Formats: sequence, C-alpha cells, structure tokens
Amino acid sequence: MLIKNYSEANCSVKTFCRMCSYRCPIVVYIEQGKIKKITGDKDHPVTKGRLCVKGSAILDLVYSPARLLKPLKKVGERWQEIDLEIALQEISQKILSIKEKYGAKSIGVWKGESLDPTQSDICRRFAFAFGTPNIFSNDTVCAVSKQAAIKSVIGGYPTPDFQAAKCIVVWGANPRASHFPLYNEIKDARKRGAKVLLIDPRKSSFAKIADLYFPIKPGTDGALAWGIINIIIENKWYDQAFVEEHTIGFEELAQYARKFNLRYVAEETGISQDDIYKISKTIAESAPHVTYRVGVGPEQHDNGFNNIRAIACIGALCGCTDRPGGDRLEEPPALNSLVADVRGNVEKEKPIGAEEYPVFYDHRWEGRSIKAMDAMLENDPYPLRGLILTGANPVITNPNSDKVEKALKSLDLFVVRDLFMTETAKLADYVLPAASFLERSELIRGVMPQTISLTKKVLEFDSCQNEYQFWSSLAKKVGIGQHFPWKDEDELNRWIIEPLGLSLEELAQKAEGYIYKAYNYEKFYKNGFNTPSGKVEFTSDYLAKYGYEKLPVYRPAHYLSGKNKAHYKFILITGAREARFNNSCYHNIPRLKKAVPMPLLEIHPADAANLQLADGDLVEVTSAKGSLNIRVSIVEQDEILRGFLQITHGFDEVNVNRITPDDILDPVIGFPALKSVPVNVTKIPEDAGCHQL
Ligand code: SF4
Repeated sequence: MLIKNYSEANCSVKTFCRMCSYRCPIVVYIEQGKIKKITGDKDHPVTKGRLCVKGSAILDLVYSPARLLKPLKKVGERWQEIDLEIALQEISQKILSIKEKYGAKSIGVWKGESLDPTQSDICRRFAFAFGTPNIFSNDTVCAVSKQAAIKSVIGGYPTPDFQAAKCIVVWGANPRASHFPLYNEIKDARKRGAKVLLIDPRKSSFAKIADLYFPIKPGTDGALAWGIINIIIENKWYDQAFVEEHTIGFEELAQYARKFNLRYVAEETGISQDDIYKISKTIAESAPHVTYRVGVGPEQHDNGFNNIRAIACIGALCGCTDRPGGDRLEEPPALNSLVADVRGNVEKEKPIGAEEYPVFYDHRWEGRSIKAMDAMLENDPYPLRGLILTGANPVITNPNSDKVEKALKSLDLFVVRDLFMTETAKLADYVLPAASFLERSELIRGVMPQTISLTKKVLEFDSCQNEYQFWSSLAKKVGIGQHFPWKDEDELNRWIIEPLGLSLEELAQKAEGYIYKAYNYEKFYKNGFNTPSGKVEFTSDYLAKYGYEKLPVYRPAHYLSGKNKAHYKFILITGAREARFNNSCYHNIPRLKKAVPMPLLEIHPADAANLQLADGDLVEVTSAKGSLNIRVSIVEQDEILRGFLQITHGFDEVNVNRITPDDILDPVIGFPALKSVPVNVTKIPEDAGCHQL
C-alpha cells in the first residue's frame, strides 16, 4: 500500500531506481492512491530520463505476486507462516545460545548487493556491536580486487570523467549490460568526438559503439598493460613532469617494462603487434584526457590483482589521474559514521579469511565469504554456526555452489531476508520479507560527482522491514539496543547527514542530489595522493610489507602454465551479466525472463565444428568441481576466441557456479578464477535435459 503522504492525492514523486547498483533518477506517478507508472526523470542532466530494461520493470518487482509478505519458519521440510515478533524472538534466542556456546564471532552477517553503503553500515554496526567481526558479502568475488588494486597505485578508486574525455578505454567490461547509464555517457562522449577502445575476450554488445575492438586472451591483461607501458616509455610519450613530481618507482617500472617487447606481448595476449602499438599511440595522443572503465573481466583471475595494478599504471604514467577527461578522484562526504564507535569491539578479532588475505581485509574490513564455507563445514579457523543474510543469493553467485549449499545447510541458525524465495532462502530456518527500494528512504551517492541524495519511501507493506527496522529490533532483543537509539530510518538519516549542515527535508528536495563539495581537479598539487607515500605508487611498500611484489609483476594465468592442458580442452569464461537481470535478481519477472529463459554455452564456430555441434545442441560441460547440461549457441567468428567458451551467470535453472573453482585464487586478494575455468564439453542426447548435476 502507499504510505500516508501519498495515499490520497494525485501526485508525482522524484526518487531513484535501485534495481542495480546505479541510481537512475525516476519519477513515480500516483493516481487515486495507486502507482500508475514510473518513468525516468527527464530533467536530470546526466541520465536525461533514460532507464534500462530492468528500470522499466520496477512495478513488476514491487507488486510481484511471488513477493514474500509474511515471515516464514521452516518446520521439518515445510514452511509455516509465523508472526514477525515471534520470529524475531526465536531468532534472537538462538543467536544468544550460539554465542554462549561458541562465542560472538560464531555469528556472521552477510549483506547483499542491493544495499547501499548506509544500509551496509547498519549491518556492520549490528555485527560489531554484537562482538563479531564476521561480515561477509559478494565483495570476496566481485569488484573489490580492482578497487583495491587501483587504489594501491593512485590512492583511490576513480570515476571516469566521460564528459571531458578524448579517449575512453573499456577494459573487460560491458556497460551496456551491467551499467546502462555509463553506456549512455560513453555514447554521448563518442558523439562529442571521444574515441572508444574495447579490450575484451568477448565481442560483447558494447562493441557496437566502440571505435576499435581488441580481443584478448583471458587473464593476459597484465601482459598487454606492460606492453603499453613499455611503448609509452620507449617513445617518451609519458608525462615526464608528472612522473618526476608525483610518482615513486618509475625506474623499476621502466626497467621491468623492457621485458615486454611487442613479439612477446602479441603471443601472450593474442593481440597483433600493430594493434598493441595502435592502442598505445591512441592513449598517448589523447592524454591526459583518457579515462578507463575496468570491469570485473580482468580481476577474476589468479593474476588479476597485479594485472589491474599494471593497467592503473598506464593512466598515471600519462598524467591522466585527477585531470579533466581522465580518472576523477572524488572526495567522500563528511558524514557521521555508523561504525566508528563500535569497531573497537572487534579490533582484536580479525574476521575469517583476514589472516590469509590481509589486503582484502584492509580494504573492506570484512571476512572472505569463500573461506566462511570452511568455517561452517570444518570449524576452520573456528566455528561459524549462525548466519543472518540480507539481500544476497550466494548459492547462485559464489563459486562452487555445491559446497556453498552444503555449508549453509550445516548451520545451527540460518536467517534470510529477501523479497523472494531464492535458492539461498530455501535453505534457511527463517525467511523474513524485506522492503524493496520503493519502501525505504536511504542515503545514496548521487549520480553526479560528489553529490549525495535521499531516496523516497513511497510504499509500505506490513511485515516487510527495512534494514534499520530489522537490525534495530533484533539488536534490542539480543541486548545491544543502546547502539540503535534512532526512532526510525528518517531519524537515522538525519543524524548521518548532520555534519553537512542541511536538513533531511532540504536534501529530499534536491532531486539532482546535494553537491557536498564542488569537484576540483589536480588536487595532488596541494594534497598529494592518498597513498602511504603521498604519490602515485608504481611500486608499493605497503604490498611488500605483506610479502607481495612491489611492482605489479605479470605472471601468466594458471591455464597458460600448461598444468591442466592435458585434461581440459577449453577455458570457460563466466560471470558476464545479462542486461535484463542483475546477477541472480529479476529472473522471476516474467517479461524479463521471457526474452532470456536460460543461459547458453557460447562457442566459436570452428570449435563447434570440431565437436560436431549444431546450434541448440545439448552438451555436458565438466570441470574439476562438477558438470552441467546446457544448450549451445554458436556465435560469430569474431565474437569469442577459439578454445574459449562463455556462460552467463545468475540463472538457477543452469547455475554455472556449480562448476566454478573456489580454490584457484589470486595470491594477493584471494579472488577466484571465474573467468578461466578449465572444462571439457561433450555432446549428450536430448533426453538428458538442461540442468546441473
Ligand atoms: S541502470 Fe537500470 S536498473 Fe540500474 S538504476 Fe538505472 S534504470 Fe535502474
């Protein structure tokens, strides 16, 4: 139902879409107490009213007949409705008895991608106040490796300045499917004359707007980056004044880069010598107005962290960092922190996985979800017996799904909050209905640089709690209610923005977001960079302190070393997104699902011919972790390299993570090699059906 403010009148409300991690401004039209339609906000200067296909299905999501509207408790193998208050009471008692037996750290909190930083910090606050450092999320497998790698070089994770860019390098990403507003910004920039380069093993739908496309072998991004660095230094195309004044490690960088001659780089990457030179020259000629959109493509490899460090060195070398048309380094808003006063509770107790991968921990202050499975199954390094998971679906999104399933089933208490009965929720003891983004009022980063915005709560369903309602009510029941003194999410938001000096009502009025600080380029002249040395770090003492290489040394990906070549004939790339879905989300919206009911195995025509496969044939794909049955899609010659395959992730009908490894990991950050899975493919009879084994 609509909340009181909107229930009578005919009106329109400006708020934001949160069907993905972007935040496109939308207008919700209300007539006679009902939402009639939702459109993009045409007045917004950046998004200009454009919504992606997911954004046009918001009403299908919030009014979906499949939505969970009542709390459920599993009794035997069946679900029973349970009063919310009683459910919370039972859950809190179980939490306290697990704490009594195994200690506070045996309780974990897993937060999903649907939460913005403020909501994530509510979860963290609960965990830290309770005394457990064990926060988990998909950050163990997605996006954080590239963020931490780039930060280690330039001191922050930049946002691309498409508006002023002359050259845009999209590296291992498909913004058309994953970040539609960025795709539009790139299209707009191209109309203004920017050159767009795409480097990707697959010729994705984004290639349509790229000026130049370079197919690269998965996991060889570091070799290409070093090849580019070598050419740029040899030709003295780099920004010598910037390098001299604002960087450290240039001599080591230049010396190591010499190993990457054109012949070696071409052999390693599969990109021709001419094209490597062309990429380097295009970047150098457009500098410093060159910006990069690095996707998860280069990071989900066993050498991804250093590969991305090397990519980050190119921009810095050419003086593109924090310059117009380059990589913007935004400053965060000064806000009251939800974790500062409670973090001390767990300072001495590191989360699961932090010892093995301290760089990940330093960057995110959380545990590694892959390692959490060992804690659930084998008490390694100690027992994790209770888990509260909000807005996540790790059975579909984490590698080695069979192990994830087994681990979650082994818990003494497993609580899931979600809008729908997901594959993960099916394993829970309690499933609690959660509020959708139209039922929450939350602080979000704005679309424009250095802005903050407030989403509007338009709807309300009984029993569908927002993050603050859930965690604060649970906190009271487990004896830490004093850490949640705010009456509701509005009061909490009001407190968080206090240092900005504007009221919540004033913020709510700013449909384009509140600019908390005008963006200034070239802050490094005054402030330096946010690295230990205050300069761009081509070499990192911070990483060396942990025993990692100071330079982003290139080591060929595991599959190129030849170890598995005898057993497996193909390398499978997974994890690409389908534009209609956000990873595992929205597969239950019929009009989205209708267009893409199942994932397909993309294969090169020559490989298909060798296996005597026709389009649509059924095959079994087998890895070291398991196998699945899937139909074949023979793509065009130039859409995928020979010897490589692709399966899109997020589908529960054919869950590709049944066959992905959780034990081929990047040595620095612990990311799994989801984009280079050794597999075999065998044609199977039609009656075998499409499924995972
Ligand atoms: S990109 Fe699409 S799903 Fe994401 S916020 Fe924008 S309209 Fe919504």
